[in-house]
Amino acid sequence: MAGRRFIIIGAPGSGKGTLAVRVARALGLRHLSTGDLLRESVSQETEIGRKAESYMNQGALVPDEIMVDLLRDELETHGFESWILDGFPRTLHQAEILEAMLSEKETSVDRVFLIDLDPEIIVERLTGRRVCPACNAIYNLASDEFRPQVDGTCDTCGAGLIKRKDDEEETIRRRLDVYDKQTAPVIEHYRAIGVLETVDGAGGADRTAAEILRIAT
Ligand code: AMP
Repeated sequence: MAGRRFIIIGAPGSGKGTLAVRVARALGLRHLSTGDLLRESVSQETEIGRKAESYMNQGALVPDEIMVDLLRDELETHGFESWILDGFPRTLHQAEILEAMLSEKETSVDRVFLIDLDPEIIVERLTGRRVCPACNAIYNLASDEFRPQVDGTCDTCGAGLIKRKDDEEETIRRRLDVYDKQTAPVIEHYRAIGVLETVDGAGGADRTAAEILRIAT
């Protein structure tokens, strides 16, 4: 199958959402963020949203059955070609199901980019993170690069910025713990099959995005 399929993986707050948007734009890929899809489902009060909300607010993973259905629907609707997946897979089971879905279409993941970053930097970044509930743009009060031009307002669409419920410090620590326990085996799996590329997440978004693009093209 033509097209390119990438995964971006990293701890919460490693910058994967911001980087995925840039890489998607530069390479003409669809950006598929399972976190964004879930937040949309929650705000539209769909059945998936109702099921997912309490897990998300607690910093826990949403059960695999829900996530797999969500992703399958998205790929069936928008096609199996040319995407960058952000936030999925987060468990080994999700990775196996994704591989099975892709092999049915006689395709596979081209590269998996792991964003490497110190956990203490992550906590600092996540407590300063603000998001736009209207267009999903991401800001950070702790960074010159990502501070909004007008306090509390989205530069892109003018909506009021909010702090995600799961960006409170206690929930952040829990999400990092979940990442270490449940997502680390996914990283090892991709390393073992030879598609993992580790990139340094500490040098600023421009540098990290350039590094990903260099490897991807
Ligand atoms: P994110 O925006 O990627 O940090 O995702 C926010 C939250 O959505 C996570 O903390 C989980 O509760 C949930 N979530 C997103 N993607 C997945 C996934 N692939 N598996 C399970 N839960 C997920």
